[in-house]
Amino acid sequence: MAVDRESQVQQTAREILALTHQSKPSVLSSERWQGEMMDWAMSDERLKVEMLRFVDVFPTLRSRSEIARHLREYFARQGVAAPKALRWGVNLAAPRSPVAPLANAVIRKQMKGFAQRFIVGRDAADATGALRGLRRDGMGFTLDVLGEASVSEAEAEAYQQTYLGLIDGLADEARSWPAVPVVDDSAWGPLPRVDLSLKITSLYSQIDPVDFEGSAAAVKDRLRPIVRRAMADGAALTLDLEQFRYRDLTFEVFTSLLDEEEFRAYDDAGAVVQAYLRDAEQDVARLLAWAKDHDRRFHLRLVKGAYWDYETVIAAQEGWPVPVFTHKPDTDAMYEKLAETMLRDPEHVRPAFASHNVRSLAAAIVTARELGLADNAFEIQTLHGMGEPIKHAVRALGLRLREYAPVGELIPGMAYLVRRLLENTANDSFLRQTFVEGAAVEELIQAPAVSADFGREPTRRPTIAPTDPEAPARFMNQPHADFSRREDRDAYEAALVAVRARLGAHYPLVIGGRETDTAKRLTSVDPARPAEVIGTVAYGGRAEAEAAVAAAKAALPAWRDTPARERAAVLFRAAELMRREVLELSALMTLEAGKTRREANGDADEAIDFLEYYGREMLRLDKQRRMGSVPGEHNVYFYQPRGIALVVAPWNFPLAILTGMTSAALVAGNPVIVKPAGPTPVIAAQMTRILTEAGAPPGTVNFLPSPGGEVGDFLVRHPGVDLIVFTGSMEVGLDIISHSAQNPSPEGVKKVVAEMGGKNAVIVDTDADLDVAVAEVVVSAFHYAGQKCSAASRVIVLEAAYDDFVRRLVEATRSLTVGPPADASTRVGPVITAEAKQKIEGYIAQGKREARLAATVEPPEGGWPDDGFYVAPHVFVDVAPDAVIAQEEIFGPVVAVIKAKDMDEALAIANGVKYALTGGLISRSPAAIERVRREFRVGNLYINRGITGALVERQPFGGFKMSGIGSKAGGPDYLLQFLEPRVITENTMRRGFAPPDELLEE
Ligand SMILES: Cc1cc2nc3c(=O)[nH]c(=O)nc-3n(C[C@H](O)[C@H](O)[C@H](O)COP(=O)(O)OP(=O)(O)OC[C@H]3O[C@@H](n4cnc5c(N)ncnc54)[C@H](O)[C@@H]3O)c2cc1C
Repeated sequence: MAVDRESQVQQTAREILALTHQSKPSVLSSERWQGEMMDWAMSDERLKVEMLRFVDVFPTLRSRSEIARHLREYFARQGVAAPKALRWGVNLAAPRSPVAPLANAVIRKQMKGFAQRFIVGRDAADATGALRGLRRDGMGFTLDVLGEASVSEAEAEAYQQTYLGLIDGLADEARSWPAVPVVDDSAWGPLPRVDLSLKITSLYSQIDPVDFEGSAAAVKDRLRPIVRRAMADGAALTLDLEQFRYRDLTFEVFTSLLDEEEFRAYDDAGAVVQAYLRDAEQDVARLLAWAKDHDRRFHLRLVKGAYWDYETVIAAQEGWPVPVFTHKPDTDAMYEKLAETMLRDPEHVRPAFASHNVRSLAAAIVTARELGLADNAFEIQTLHGMGEPIKHAVRALGLRLREYAPVGELIPGMAYLVRRLLENTANDSFLRQTFVEGAAVEELIQAPAVSADFGREPTRRPTIAPTDPEAPARFMNQPHADFSRREDRDAYEAALVAVRARLGAHYPLVIGGRETDTAKRLTSVDPARPAEVIGTVAYGGRAEAEAAVAAAKAALPAWRDTPARERAAVLFRAAELMRREVLELSALMTLEAGKTRREANGDADEAIDFLEYYGREMLRLDKQRRMGSVPGEHNVYFYQPRGIALVVAPWNFPLAILTGMTSAALVAGNPVIVKPAGPTPVIAAQMTRILTEAGAPPGTVNFLPSPGGEVGDFLVRHPGVDLIVFTGSMEVGLDIISHSAQNPSPEGVKKVVAEMGGKNAVIVDTDADLDVAVAEVVVSAFHYAGQKCSAASRVIVLEAAYDDFVRRLVEATRSLTVGPPADASTRVGPVITAEAKQKIEGYIAQGKREARLAATVEPPEGGWPDDGFYVAPHVFVDVAPDAVIAQEEIFGPVVAVIKAKDMDEALAIANGVKYALTGGLISRSPAAIERVRREFRVGNLYINRGITGALVERQPFGGFKMSGIGSKAGGPDYLLQFLEPRVITENTMRRGFAPPDELLEE
């Protein structure tokens, strides 16, 4: 039976291929310029990258010279094997060329033509001609409005209006269209003539699975009028499936919206399933179960999935299991399997098979026929502009065919276009294999040969084994919680509950391994709700500080001589302990430091990273190095600890930075006095507990919370302290540097490692992708209320992009949700203290005097909740480069937007501050990127991404000028600051005899 079925599938596939008449899809046809372009792309990977990038940037290029410059930068570079014809085009378009205007016009025309291949029109009116044409050719359509992921509510609303307009515009028009029975009739009755597909990310700018319920509710609010209109006008509506992180959210929106009373009778809603997802079977199962339970009929489009490259890259970057198959035949096999499941439930499912793969389509067709279904009990769907010969064949078989037909402008359509190009030119693409590579028919139609991976349980996140100090595995960043998964969201809620149940506890000092309490206490409160006490801690005064120095001193000799491997083992055990309670530590920071889920989780993960990284670094540095190689002399280079370390920590990364500074000192053999920041002592007490449980001997980690600068000052000057590790403001940092220099310890000059402030700028180039620029500036400037030394506080925008950027940034800022960080919907929480709020408000007042306030978020009626220390995000525009708000570190959600006439000026402004910490560039010009890399002198420069969120080892972090003295945290030089290098030279020659080199120890 199975063999028989297989031969039928192959037979049907052969028939379809025969019906294609061996013609090429137009986009791949080399008779056309576009086909030639595709050929070039497929001939050379580097060229393909450049071509995709050029297509991506093209719509933002505003002038002939911009086009010429980008052509040159992309295609006339070393290493890009541009074909002769292309090089010729590049030369013709050059500004000096006598035919430049003509060449440019040709390029514009070709690019437009290229886009039009995939796009049916700018809007409903523009598209109607093409849609009529499709129907004349015997095809239906589903319209999609180009664009995804709105950056502001204004944009999301505009998308909603566009959809409403599309339905309005087409519904009447469609009634006048002549009937096309093959398209309009189905086994279950007449089909809507107007059919739309839409993406939920375009409907809500703050969409984020971390706020699952809130995002679903907001999307549904925008969808309801669209569904109402679709029902009233008899239109069909499908929710496209996008990136994996939105999968569950999309299904939630789909099912819960349709469960609403007013939509119960709507049978023309559609969902999508992606066969490349390893757990796609569960997706179909849950949709079918929903339909059965609720007695619903719905359209279900089966696709393979359009984000394969994206999903594999993101999973690798995040250290998450790859959600998609990585063996192409597995996807194909899953497609066939799911097609059968869908076809077996005609009572609930109206199946659509979206693919250009003849084998996949044949499998679905044969299965339908085998199950005794009529040919109009399902439909085939293809993309406009792709696979025309296949469409021709499908129609020749008398099957219903629907085209996915995008409408819209070029700029928002670029992501779609680039995905299509990737798809057409991918090595594994059926279209490429068939129509370009000329693969043998037998090869094309054979049953997908699945890998051993197929059918296995989808990969869950692997448990990370504790690090063995004898044989540590390569360092890997701790993967963040994946809030698109329900388990992780629920676990965070549970952690918040658990932490809340322990609020108000008291934490004594830890000195010499003993808990010491004091009569005086310090109180830590929730900045979102200052009446809520997070905990109290004992008060470390001068006497306790003396005791801590004494305890550290007593611990020094033994700890210094403890083998590095044992010291590193303490860090690895601490990492393991933190990993076990990572979400509770995160939840504690949500409450104590005002961090939203992602921010708090990132903080806790970074603490684990520091422990794992510095443990390994110490093992690396512990190896003595032989220096020189002359006979008769033995030189070794090695390190010893510096002595007693004082760690003065900030509150803004109350676990990560504290753990990083403490563990670096500790693993290098220096006992530590930990002076946590005033607002966050409870999380610091947790770190102390964890290091102690991990085996840090008594006296090596002394916990000394103390208020204000007094005890800190005392310890900075204390002769018993040898090393001071500080992160905080420039003023305090400079104070520490000067006082420590004036008060050397008997052992010598104190070593100071000081990470200070920043006044970080993002440069936005004329050709920047503004979707990226706006979204990344919002995150970099406003997340954690801008309270990061790496935060963006200046945006320098080149003149040509200035107005568009400002308009979109203003709307995006207004769309932010400000509120308690424990609410999943919050993007911007409170600032840390009442004093911080006051200080930031002083700068806002200053900003109003010296620039124009373009956007802020108004407090809710009745004011901010619970007397929290809220400061809304503020965007100041037309700011002069030398304005106070453009020069001084603000440490709050305030951003100054500055206009620059060109890149020279932008760089001068960017570098024209006393700090040099982080910086960013959003640009698609290879030359600009090259130049800014060279000339924007900051410690951490980020290109085409946000400027916060440095990861241990991947982005070692720290700056220079007034941003700090010291090497980068989380980098290969950091531990050296906690160590003194020593060299021992031994003359190995006695009476003219020197032992051979190989007998000497390393
Ligand atoms: C009408 C229509 C609507 C669509 N709607 C959506 C949608 O809502 N969401 C969406 O994500 N996509 C959608 N797509 C795109 C679709 O997912 C595919 O990307 C596209 O159709 C190519 O698949 P294919 O079967 O035509 O070609 P094939 O060449 O047979 O398959 C290519 C596909 O295989 C998969 N693949 C590639 N390499 C590998 C690998 N190494 N391991 C495993 N799998 C691999 C990828 O999914 C790739 O797109 C839609 C397509 C159509 C025709």
